[in-house]
Formats: sequence, C-alpha cells, structure tokens
Amino acid sequence: MSSSIISKPVTGLPDYVGDGIYLHVRGERFIDCASGTFNVSLGYSAPEIIEALHGQLDRIAHLSSDFTRARSAEIFELMRDDLPPHIGAFWFRDITGSGANEAAIRIVQKATGRSDIVSLFLSHHGQTVGTTGVSGNAFRQRSFSLPFPHSVKIPGPDCANCFYGQVPGSCAMLCARRLEDFVEYASSGRVAALVVEPIMGNGGNIVPPPEWYAVLRETCDRLGVLIIADEVQTGFGRTGSFFASTGYAAALRPDVITFAKGAGGVGIPVAGVVMRPELDVLEPWEHSSTSGANPLALVALEETIRYIHRHRVLDQVRVTGERLHRGLLALSRTFPDMTGVRGVGLMQAFDLPTSVDVAQFIAVAREHGLILRGSRYGFGRTVKVRPPLIITTEQVDDLLGRLHETLRSDQR
Ligand code: PMP
Repeated sequence: MSSSIISKPVTGLPDYVGDGIYLHVRGERFIDCASGTFNVSLGYSAPEIIEALHGQLDRIAHLSSDFTRARSAEIFELMRDDLPPHIGAFWFRDITGSGANEAAIRIVQKATGRSDIVSLFLSHHGQTVGTTGVSGNAFRQRSFSLPFPHSVKIPGPDCANCFYGQVPGSCAMLCARRLEDFVEYASSGRVAALVVEPIMGNGGNIVPPPEWYAVLRETCDRLGVLIIADEVQTGFGRTGSFFASTGYAAALRPDVITFAKGAGGVGIPVAGVVMRPELDVLEPWEHSSTSGANPLALVALEETIRYIHRHRVLDQVRVTGERLHRGLLALSRTFPDMTGVRGVGLMQAFDLPTSVDVAQFIAVAREHGLILRGSRYGFGRTVKVRPPLIITTEQVDDLLGRLHETLRSDQR
C-alpha cells in the first residue's frame, strides 16, 4: 500500500460535493432550491471566489480586525453604488446575521439613547439572546426567561391572513399605521427603532404590498423612530436588486441595513451593517468578535460583490425569478393543492393544504432531484423555492419539471 494513502486520511465530509446550483450527495445530484441555508447565493463553485479564497489561505487565514479595517473600507466603497444614496457608513465585524443584528440594535440604542425595538409577529432576526428576544417567533423564546425586555411586537403585512381582518386594496395599510398605537400604548415610550425583514423569510415568505413600505416610513418619520432593514435573506441580489431596499422595498428607506448569508457567495460566513453616516457611533470594543472581518470573510465579501457586478447577476435574477414565479403560478393552476404562490426575484414560495404533510412532500421532491425547505413556523405549510442566483433559465425549467413530477406523485 502506498504510504501517501496512509498519510492522507479522508477528512471533512467526502459524501458531499457542490457544483454550481447542484449538491451531489454520495454521487446523487440535486438542484439545491434552498441555496444551502439560503447562503450559497452564487452556487457552490463560483471559480473566481474559490480561487481567491485559496490564494488567501495560502498567505494567511486569520488577522485581527485591527489589521483589516482599511480593507473593509475599500470593500464598502466597492458596494457604494449598490446602496441607497443616504447610506454612508459601515460596520463589518460580524460573521453571522445574528451578530449583525446585535450590532444594529447597539447602534440604534447608542445613537438615540433609547431602548425599545419594535418588530413584526413571526419575524426572525437571529439566535442570540438579544436577537431571539427581538424576533417575533415566540416558540424560540418559550424556554428562556425574558431574553430582551425592550421589545414590542406588531402585526405584519400578511394580507392573506390579515390580523385586522382587512381586505387588500381597502385597508389603507392599517397594519403600518397602527405602529403609532403600539408605540404609544405598548412601548416604554423610548422606542429606538423598528426592525423589519423587507420580505419576511422564515415567517412564510411574506411579500408586503408595495405601499406598506412607504406608509411605514412615513409613520416612523412622524414618530422619530429609526428603521433597520434586516436583509440577511433579501440582500446580495436575492430579490433582483442588490438589496430589497434598493428595489422592491425602496420606499422603506432604512436607516440601517444588515446583511449576512448570501454575502459570502459560496457559503463563507460574513456579515455586516451599513447605515446613515450619523449612526456610525460604535467604538471597536463595543461590538466585535474574534473572527469578525477575518481575511477569508473579507475575500468572500469582496469577490461576491465583484462577481455580482461582473456577471450582471441582478439582471439575471430578474429574468429567472420572473420565469420561476410564472412557472409556479402555472403549476398552481394545474394542482389545486398548491396555493399562495408569492415572491420577488429568486425568493419564491407556495403553500400546501393542511391535509398534506410538508415534510413528506419535501421527501418526495428529494426523490425527484430537488432539495426544498419548508417554513417550520409561520403557518407551517409553506414550501420555499430559492435556488442559487446563478441558475439559468434552462435550469429553472428543469426545476419546474421536477416540481411538476413531485406534485403529480403527491396527488396519487
Ligand atoms: N435575520 C434573518 C432574516 C435570518 O433569516 C437569519 C437566519 N435565518 C438571521 C437573521 C440570523 O442569521 P445567522 O443564522 O447567520 O445568525
């Protein structure tokens, strides 16, 4: 036996290989409609990014963020044109969405001197004590004692299940306007900010009507409340604009935007905050972590931005997203089990009736070569369809064909 085989044991997870939009598991190929954990935005093998990461690893894997601040500033400049014009400062010291949202909470609290954070029912902003407390998914909080005392939850813009029993078109965006009542009656009177996912992800892929953003902004302006857009899921091209806040949700004009997930392109952890210049109030020691702004994270972030620009990914997402949306609508006309098709860009979803076991449906999809994910909360019957942003129109058609087969076997 050759000594090289003995000296090179198989390490890592040899059963799994990523290739573009495909995940190969023990040789079997699946279209990854979950883009990993919604983070493998540019597919598993974007060559420029992988090559740059190798190059960085060959030189150095870790540096304290004291050494990387200047590079972070250059990367911020690279994304300047992708941001709303009023955004002028950054904080790139996190590697998780939870961390970025913690930073945002600290920023708005320190800048305003106020404590409370308002968020939406069913929202998800992270897994730390603070961000779990701010999130509106109560089941994650049940086992713990009061994780974040300064949190106020309000009904979100889920028109299909309107909290106020209103009908779209005649509601005058009551859910956004009533923010005022919650601030008056349910807060401590010291509200720093409202945090919202422009399109609520884990809570059911909820797409608000476009006017919702404008009314929310108006209301917050009147009340002197800042807006944090949690773009951990919607950022970096997912909805066909760099951020949802520069496209579908532009009227939100957030004061702070947080990002993570897709910012690492091929799944490298990196997260950050961008904000109005006057909100650049944190000292480095007030919010930081060992691996924040580490060289690999910064390389992934920079190369992801360059890749999106160079390959005109946003244009592609608008085309493929529209094709996917229309294809899902067409399927829903054939299969009555499939309802509520909704989404922007490549952030699509549909519902199944309560009589269908979502986990079973996802298992059948697996047999047809698709990796799908359900919403574990919200109303618990949502299936999300969010392939990597590099998916081609031919691959979208293949995906839809496989979903057609899945729905057909589900009907039997
Ligand atoms: N915000 C949103 C909208 C998310 O979807 C998530 C993760 N699912 C987070 C924050 C937390 O990100 P992370 O898991 O990287 O901490």
